[in-house]
This record gives sequence, C-alpha cells and structure tokens, in this order.
Amino acid sequence: MRQVPKHLNGLAFQVIAVSNMSAEKQIAREIDVRFPSERLMLGRPVAPLLLVLILVSLATVSALVFDTFGTLDRLGREHLYQQVSTAIDVETHRQEQLLQEYAYWDEGYRLLIAEHDTEWADKNLGTFVAEDYGLDLAVAFRGDGSIAGSWVDGERLDLEGLPAEEVDLARLAERLRASEAIARSAYVRFQGNPYLVSVEKFRDEETEQARPDGALLLFGRALTDEVFADWSETYGLPNLGRVGEHSAADLVLRNDQDDELVRLLWDKETPATVYLNRLLLPIVLVFTLMAGLGWWMLERERDNRTRYVRQLFEMASKDFLTGISNRREFFFLANREMTRASREDKSLSVLMMDLDWFKKINDTLGHDAGDEVLSGFARLVKSNLRDFDIFARLGGEEFVVLLVGSGRAEALETAERLCHLVEQHAFQVAQKSPANCTVSIGLAVWNHGEAIDRLLNRADDALYEAKANGRNQVAVSEFT
Ligand code: GH3
Ligand code: MG
Ligand code: MG
Repeated sequence: MRQVPKHLNGLAFQVIAVSNMSAEKQIAREIDVRFPSERLMLGRPVAPLLLVLILVSLATVSALVFDTFGTLDRLGREHLYQQVSTAIDVETHRQEQLLQEYAYWDEGYRLLIAEHDTEWADKNLGTFVAEDYGLDLAVAFRGDGSIAGSWVDGERLDLEGLPAEEVDLARLAERLRASEAIARSAYVRFQGNPYLVSVEKFRDEETEQARPDGALLLFGRALTDEVFADWSETYGLPNLGRVGEHSAADLVLRNDQDDELVRLLWDKETPATVYLNRLLLPIVLVFTLMAGLGWWMLERERDNRTRYVRQLFEMASKDFLTGISNRREFFFLANREMTRASREDKSLSVLMMDLDWFKKINDTLGHDAGDEVLSGFARLVKSNLRDFDIFARLGGEEFVVLLVGSGRAEALETAERLCHLVEQHAFQVAQKSPANCTVSIGLAVWNHGEAIDRLLNRADDALYEAKANGRNQVAVSEFT
C-alpha cells in the first residue's frame, strides 16, 4: 500500500513508467496526468484545431473568390450580349435609314412605279444599293402585291417565278401594308438563306403620307459568315459567328413565325477563366504558408510552455542551493520506491544525515562559506551513491538517502564509507582555506509494510544516538 504524507495530499502523483522519453515529453506527460485541464495548452489538440481553422478559411476565401468571379463573369456575359444586340440594332437602323431615303423620294417613286423606268431602276436599286451600301436585296412591291422590280446582289432577278415558300418577303410586305408603322425590320429566309430585311411604304416627300396605291420598298442583307466577321471587327465583338442547328448559342435570330434562322455564338473570355487560374495557386500558397507559420509558432509556443512548466516543476521539486531533490520530491520518490519494493520484495534503507557542529562553520567562515560546504557535501555524497539511490536535502544541514535495494549490511557499509569520505574531504571555500566537516548518520532498514514517516523517525532516532555518542559516526536503528 502506498502511503502519501499529509503535506502531499491532493497531488495525485503517478508513476512514470516510460523511461526512454525525452525529458520535456516526460514532464509534459506527467503534468498532463496531474493537471488534466492544462492538456490543451501543452498537448496536441491545438495543432489539428489550427489545421481545421485554416482549411475552413481556405474554403471560405475560395468560395468568396469563386462567387466574386462568378458574378463578374455573369456581368461580363451580359455586357457582351448587350454589345452584340446593340451592334445588330445599329446595323438594322442604318439599313432602315437608307431605305427611308429611297421610300421618301418622290422622283424615285414616279420613275419606278408610275413610269416603270427600268434603266433608272437597275442603276439606282441594283448597282447603287449593292455597291455603295453593301445591301444584297431590293424589292419594289406595287399596291396589289405584285412585284415592280427586284434585285439580288445588284442584278435584276425575277422573283415572280420563285416558289412561294422561298419568298417570305411577300408575307412581310403584306403585314406592313396592313399596319401604320413606319419602316419595319425582320429576319426572313430568302432562297434558303437568312436575311435581315427592312420594309417601308413609298411616301410623299412633303406630307410623309403613304402613297394611296400602297406600294412598298424592301431592302435586305444576307446574314453570311462574312457579315458577322465584319460586324465583329467594326464593333469590337469577340468573334461573333454562326453555329449549326443544334449547337449551343448565345443569341438566336428568328423570323416572325418564330422559326430559328441564325444561331450566333461568340467568345466569352470572362474574368473567372482568365484570373481564377492565376489566383488559385497564390491563394493555396499563402494559406499553406500561413498553416506552416501557424504550426511553427504553435510548436514553438508549446516548447516554451513545456520548458517553463519544466522549470516550475524543477523549482518545486529541487533544492535551490544544492540542486538535489527537496523534501517534497523525496517523499514522492520514496513512496514510489516503497511501492515497487513491496511488489518486488526488495530491501530499502534510509540514512538520515546531519552535519556536525555546522553552526561553528557558519560562525567562523561566514554563512556563504557554509553554503559552499553544504553544496560540496551534496556533490560529494551524490557522486558516491548509485544513480538510482534517492538523495535529498530535508532542510538546513540535514540530508537523507534512500538506498534502493540495500539491506542492513550494505547500507551500513555505505553509511560508514560516506562518514569516512566526509571526514577526509577538504571542502573548497572561495577566498578561504578549505574547510573540514564531519557528519553523523542514523541508519534504519525498512521493514516491509512500514510507513515512511515511521521509517524516517527511526532513522532520526539513530541519528540522535550517533550525535550523543560523539558525532562523526553511524548508529543503526534496530526495529522493534
Ligand atoms: P550538531 O548538529 O552537531 O548538533 O550541531 P549544529 O551546529 O550543526 O546544530 P544546529 O542544528 O544547532 O545548527 C545547525 C545550523 O545550520 C544552524 C544554521 O545556522 C545552519 N544552517 C541551516 N541552514 C543553513 C543554510 O542553508 N546555509 C548555511 N550556511 N547555514 C545553515
Ligand atoms: Mg541539525
Ligand atoms: Mg548539525
């Protein structure tokens, strides 16, 4: 049974069985055992916590970056869409304006519809329209819907002979005639190709009223790949081009029946695709660096703390003057040895030591010299004991040794040897001649099951006896 002296109550001392640990680890472990609530400060749980924290921040920052770039991308795409729509609107408007110049031209109307001047018509609606304005189609409708003249790529082409479904134009023209609207534009299919066409009623130049006969003029442009390439260049659009029927498209142009005529696609080099790849690596690097730095700081902090606690621990367990165990640690270690000796049925002996006439040394050489003698005594004794013996200063000039595994004979021999060694030793004292000193020793051999206090009391009694018998000698306590 382990006995804990009263003054050590409350400190749950534990035996540290693992001996090949580093000193810091061993102490950290021991402190962990004694003060579990301090664990977080000394031990491992902080590092994974830091890692989780950093991973969460990395995820949050990444999410934020992705979200920001996602928004920028969306805005960029909308902006491009707007740009393309505007470009098409401008082109449409230009075509409508040109058309109006012809439709509001009294002389043109007279020569074309009333006088049927083919030479004039071929030159103005064929050559000029195609070459000067880059349009591909011009058609003049009479009030009854019949065609007064039609030109494709600047050449006169008779549309009357074409199959009806190829001439979407007529339907558009009919609709315009029915409405009061000014120039109208639409996408139509003509001869199998998509066209942007604009239609306007012939009007009186002055009154701007539609001609009573309801004649119409139509201009159109074929929406070819070249046209889109041309628009891309003119308006700075990113590679606006046509794609096939089933491909994904950014914009679809439809006729008035809602049939798809042209599918348009353009490049969308958006901020995310451009910058995200460049940003991702630095972000990950910065976080890795932060993690490394944090980890390093934590480790350093932990080392410092462990060192500090170790110092506190040393201060609490070692004698300040001699560096050997103090009274508190002696009881802890002695109890441990007693438990082990009980278990393994081993012997233990105690030597209680008190320097003789020590007061005289202080009185003659001074207190500092006395201190030096005490330190020298501790060094001398320690160097003549085995590593596993327990040597402590109980206070003043009183020391104790627990001889582990030693029975009466061996302990007595050790005690006498120490007594003799001290007597022979010249203790070095600074700036003074070496001092001599003797020690009296009381020996008590441990009886299994005996409490430490009682064992120490018996050794103390023996020490008293040694003093009484003339000092500088060993007295043995015989157990009764
Ligand atoms: P004896 O034990 O042989 O009976 O005589 P003694 O003179 O050693 O006995 P006593 O216990 O009366 O005196 C012990 C002295 O030790 C008293 C005290 O001044 C001195 N002393 C105690 N602790 C220290 C210390 O830390 N440093 C020094 N220099 N002296 C100490
Ligand atoms: Mg004393
Ligand atoms: Mg003394």
